Amino acid sequence: MRRWTEICAGIVAAAVPTGVGSALGALAGGSSGLVAGLVAGGVPGAVFGWAVAAFVPYDLSSARGLARYATDLTWSLPNTWLGAVLLTGNLLAGNRVVADLSRYGGTVHLARGTLPAVGGVRYVTTVGTVVAGIPGAPDDSPCSTAARALLAHERGHVLQARLLGPAYVPSVLVNYALAAVLPFWWFWHDHAAYPIRSVAAYFQHGVYPHVWNEEWCYRAYGPRR
Ligand SMILES: [Zn+2]
Repeated sequence: MRRWTEICAGIVAAAVPTGVGSALGALAGGSSGLVAGLVAGGVPGAVFGWAVAAFVPYDLSSARGLARYATDLTWSLPNTWLGAVLLTGNLLAGNRVVADLSRYGGTVHLARGTLPAVGGVRYVTTVGTVVAGIPGAPDDSPCSTAARALLAHERGHVLQARLLGPAYVPSVLVNYALAAVLPFWWFWHDHAAYPIRSVAAYFQHGVYPHVWNEEWCYRAYGPRR
């Protein structure tokens, strides 16, 4: 793909959230709303657009790359915007983009995770098209099987966001709240491997992995928990 195509793709990826943010802001609150929407859409949009041009996550010479690009800037735009906010905050905090994982992967990868370790476990965060916490591409050594599974798992969340679009984040939040209040997952939970004897374990090993998006990705991609 020619370099100018990649740069144009980045400009469009920045312009879409900027335009949508400005329009929504103007509809909600006139000229001051327009300015707020311009900033809220334009700042993360510009950072995302730069990442699209610089690291080329979308292979626009393939049908799959085109479909991902078009989906992320239309149906899945709310997810893309949230990911762009995460990307912006991380880059400001000194995180860096992993170029080899990001190229043509349909995702922008950040080397470090965004959350502090919970119970000694460092979680990888995936929001929209942005995956934070995988430092490099897994190699072919046997010990990187888990790393490959983790990468596939996180990209599974990106696929889920593309499929459900604006309903993705609300559906996860509602499911999390329901699973916390009403532990229906208790019946199929692996109590031998993950005994729940504390409030922390209830949320970490009970509620969280049994929310639909995690249930799906752990089953389809692993890694083994
Ligand atoms: Zn997950």
